[in-house]
Amino acid sequence: MKNYKLSESSKKNLATCNLCIVDAVEYALQFVDIGVVCGHRPISVQMSLMEQGLTKTLDSKHCRLPSHAVDLMIYVAGFGYVTEKTDPEKYRQYYGRLAGILETYCHHHGLHFRWGGDWDKDDSFNDQSFDDLVHFEIYP
Ligand SMILES: [Zn+2]
Repeated sequence: MKNYKLSESSKKNLATCNLCIVDAVEYALQFVDIGVVCGHRPISVQMSLMEQGLTKTLDSKHCRLPSHAVDLMIYVAGFGYVTEKTDPEKYRQYYGRLAGILETYCHHHGLHFRWGGDWDKDDSFNDQSFDDLVHFEIYP
């Protein structure tokens, strides 16, 4: 176990999240170096993302307070932040691994979990109309 630490801005973003998410992210930090990009998001911001085609819903779990969703970024030593643009394959691998870690945590704590890489939760990752691999939420 590595026990990575969050930056100050990540801590601030995580503090807007539901305690279950806070605990799940802290658990994942034992294995993956992550940053918290977004926790709570005001509806005005969600509407603007909708206009830009960056989200498919105005009923986002990010808009609850505390937030029931979190967007994470993954940092890999010697590589940097894993993004879809710089390395799509690595992007899928690392976020899939993180989803597995968070899902395992949620399962052991009686929480229902949903990943933006498998919205319909059928364990098939290529039947999506919209991928949001950085997104994890407490579900329903
Ligand atoms: Zn999100």
